[in-house]
Amino acid sequence: MSHDDSTHGGSGRRPGSFGTRLIHAGEERIGGAVAPPVFQSTVFAVDEAGGYEDLKYIRYSNLPNHRMLAAKLADLEGAEAALVTGSGMAAISAALLTVLGAGDHLLAGDCLYGGTQVLITRKLPAFGIEHTLIDPGDPASWAAVLKPSTRAIYVETITNPLMRVGDLEAVGRFAAEHGLVALIDNTFATPAGFRPVEHGFHLSLHSATKYLNGHSDLVAGAVIGGRERVTAVDGTLRLLGGSLDPHACVLLHRGLKTLELRFERQCATALELARFLAGHPAVARVAYPGLEDHPDHLRAGRLLDCFGGMLAFEPAASSKRTGVEAADRLLRRLRVAVHAPSLGGVETLVVSPARSSHRGMTPEQRAAAGISDELVRVSVGIEVAEDLIADFDQALGG
Ligand SMILES: *Cc1c(COP(=O)(O)O)cnc(C)c1O
Repeated sequence: MSHDDSTHGGSGRRPGSFGTRLIHAGEERIGGAVAPPVFQSTVFAVDEAGGYEDLKYIRYSNLPNHRMLAAKLADLEGAEAALVTGSGMAAISAALLTVLGAGDHLLAGDCLYGGTQVLITRKLPAFGIEHTLIDPGDPASWAAVLKPSTRAIYVETITNPLMRVGDLEAVGRFAAEHGLVALIDNTFATPAGFRPVEHGFHLSLHSATKYLNGHSDLVAGAVIGGRERVTAVDGTLRLLGGSLDPHACVLLHRGLKTLELRFERQCATALELARFLAGHPAVARVAYPGLEDHPDHLRAGRLLDCFGGMLAFEPAASSKRTGVEAADRLLRRLRVAVHAPSLGGVETLVVSPARSSHRGMTPEQRAAAGISDELVRVSVGIEVAEDLIADFDQALGG
C-alpha cells in the first residue's frame, strides 16, 4: 500500500511568516472552497491511474481533510511530512511502536505525560522494549546509561507540572552522535513556540487535543518529521487503527488557524499572572519558565519563542489553613478559571496535579519530583489578563 498521500507536506514551503503560513499552508481550495469542506466518506472511488495501491480509505488517513491538515502541520514545524492521528496517545504509541521493537532500549525523560509514562514503563516491556529514565536537563548523565541496544531518546519540550525545559539541543546532538532516533512531545510548546526538526529531532508528537485545536472540544494528535519516518509511523497507525475522523479534522483545521493569536495571548497573560502570583503574599511558590527564578529560565529563553501558557503555583499555608486547604479553597472560589484537567483551550483551567495527572505516583515519588499536594496547575486561556488576575486575587484573599 502506498503511503504517499497520507504523510503529506514538504511540497515546497509556503511563503510568509508563521502566522501567514498557519492560514494558507496546505490549503487545497477543493472546488474553490475557501474553508475545507468535510469529506465524510469512508472510501473514495478507485482512481484508474493509481489503482488499488492508491486507495483512499478513512483509516489510512489519506482523505483530503487528513491531507490538508498534515501539509499545514509539516509546514509549520519546517518538516517534510506530518500525519494526523485520532489522539495524542495514538501519535505517541504509533511512533514508539514504529521506532522500537523487541530487544530495543529507550532513553526516556523522567517526567513525562502520565499516559506516555505508563506506556513506556508498563506496556512496552511486554513487547520486549526496555527503557532507562534520564534527566533531560543533565546531558552528562546520558552516556553512562546508553546500551548497545539503545535505539531512541524521548523527551517533552516543557514538562508537566513544573514546566521544566531540558537541554533539547543536547538531546538532538546526543541522538546524532549515537545514531538514535530523537522523539519529542511538543504539545506544551506548540509549533508557535518550538520547531523540533530545527534542533535535530526526528519525530515531533502532539496532543492536538490541546493547543493545536485550542477549543477543548475534540481529541486528536499529530506526528511530524522526515518523510520516511512519518510514512513508517503511518504504516503502524493503519494497523493500530488510530486515525482521525474527517469531521474532527475540520474542527481541528479551524481551531489551528488561530493558534498564533491564541498562543501569543496565552503566553503574555501567563507571564503577567505568574508575576502577579509570585508577588502575592498568599502564594508560596510559582513555577513558570518566564520567571527569572525558574531553574530553566535562561535555557527556555534561548530555545523557545515564548515561555508558554502553562504555570503552576503553591498557595501558602497560614495560621488559618494548611497549604492543601488553601489550594482546595482557591479551586472552589475561582469564578473565571474552571476547575478541570486538560489544557491548551481558550478557557483558563486549574487542576491539582497530585490528585489528577500525578495521582499514580506515591507521595514519596511526588515529593522527590517537587510536586506537592498543594500545587495548583494553571492552563491560561485567552480571557483578559486583568480579569484573570482579579479572579485569582479574590480566590486567594481573605
Ligand atoms: C494530553 C497530552 C497527551 C495525550 O494526548 P491525548 O490527545 O489525550 O491522547 C500527550 N502528551 C501531553 C504532553 C499531553 O498534555
